[in-house]
Amino acid sequence: MKIFVVGGAGYIGSICVELLLDEKHEVVVFDNLTEGHRLSVDERAAFIGGDLSRREEISKALQETKPDAVMHFAANALVGESMENPSKYFRNNVCAGINLLDAMRDAGVGRLVFSSTCATFGPPERVPIDETLPQRPINPYGESKLLFEKILRWYDEIHGLKYVALRYFNAAGATEKFGEDHRCETHLIPNVLKVALGQKPQVEIYGTDYETPDGTCIRDYIHILDLSRAHILAVGAKESACYNLGTGGGSSVREVIDICREVTGREIPVVEKPRRPGDPPRLIAASEKIKRELGWQPKFEDLRAIIESAWKWHQKFPKGYGD
Ligand code: UDP
Repeated sequence: MKIFVVGGAGYIGSICVELLLDEKHEVVVFDNLTEGHRLSVDERAAFIGGDLSRREEISKALQETKPDAVMHFAANALVGESMENPSKYFRNNVCAGINLLDAMRDAGVGRLVFSSTCATFGPPERVPIDETLPQRPINPYGESKLLFEKILRWYDEIHGLKYVALRYFNAAGATEKFGEDHRCETHLIPNVLKVALGQKPQVEIYGTDYETPDGTCIRDYIHILDLSRAHILAVGAKESACYNLGTGGGSSVREVIDICREVTGREIPVVEKPRRPGDPPRLIAASEKIKRELGWQPKFEDLRAIIESAWKWHQKFPKGYGD
């Protein structure tokens, strides 16, 4: 298939592109490079520099390339920032996304895989979180993704757009070539590994008074290759659907730091800080629906293996993509 990957220069997009190419698909990446990196785009992919907020750019790119399907990774994805600047999140994640949907409709592209998030649920009534639980986001990031899921439903009903929304839990890990390099790094695992590399003096733990066994937040870390495989299955799905995507395991912030200490063999000093606004205490996925309906199965169920892959990449590319 010919797949048009919006946001294919970002962390998750770049690795999905690599896997698509490995599986002999043809790939066009569309990215404005504000968050992504040109060097993270696999050499085998075509690249179009463009911005979703400019309708004519995305329309032209789709008209010219006529892909079979679109994967949409381009979004702002920081909970903390969304609590300070909601406008940015609603503009980029919702309004710009509508430009993409309209451009797809006009170009006759009828299939989309959308990067959604567990942040659409907010603090859940129970864990693991399956698709039947109510979605009540507690930050503008989660709200923006939920709004887009709702918009997709109507584009399907009215225009026949077939979509799969994948609600990621915490993406982590790397391949040999591509890994996590955000210009402003807020994520736990890369921040801990930067301390191990001596690039930061200490890890800040945001909140130690949550109602969890060790007082720190619990998350479900899923390997980026397992996420990418889910996209490739989703692009072939017959029906529109939303799926939660995690391993079903939960690790606390302190557990993540301990595993990083073991994997790196480095001392990793920590400092305890207050809670970060917008963080739910515990997010763990139930992914039975995607296993049942699309035959997805995670290969990396052990957090240590996920962190080992990230550590290998960060050692090989200590300055990331260098831009
Ligand atoms: N966290 C932390 N220190 C950091 C970065 C993150 O304690 O330097 C915590 C954060 O508060 C959350 C968990 O680690 O409870 C995972 O955060 P991350 O930003 O990696 O992903 P999120 O769950 O927000 O998508």
